[in-house]
Amino acid sequence: MLRRSVLGWWPLALLGWARAAEARLRGKLVRRQGGAPVLEAPGGRTVEVDGDGETLAVLNDPRVAGLEFDVAGRYSPSGRFLILPFTTRGAVLVHKDGRRFTVTYWCEVCAIRTYTPGKCMCCQEETELSLQEFTP
Ligand SMILES: [Zn+2]
Repeated sequence: MLRRSVLGWWPLALLGWARAAEARLRGKLVRRQGGAPVLEAPGGRTVEVDGDGETLAVLNDPRVAGLEFDVAGRYSPSGRFLILPFTTRGAVLVHKDGRRFTVTYWCEVCAIRTYTPGKCMCCQEETELSLQEFTP
């Protein structure tokens, strides 16, 4: 009986976490050797960030290391910051020169824009990092 009641609380606990207020985290993107991407907030506080495959592909792109990111998501119970799904508008922004940008990639040859780093789907050349001003 006791066991059942303890287990019975689990879904409620998970639901509570899922409903936790959405937060934004802003900080400089630093990369730990072989580890997860980390945002270094003002004051030196570091927070490990996680997200889906596309989000991590962007955050692990060496070309964006050192940029100031502003991400939306929520803190996990372990203190990591889980970024909202990649398709969420404004979930991953870059602050630069007092403006906000989304991270995109551009192939000059084919004039094709993509949202994750890698080779162009058309000509197979490496795409260039292209920050696009974010308009809410
Ligand atoms: Zn191309």
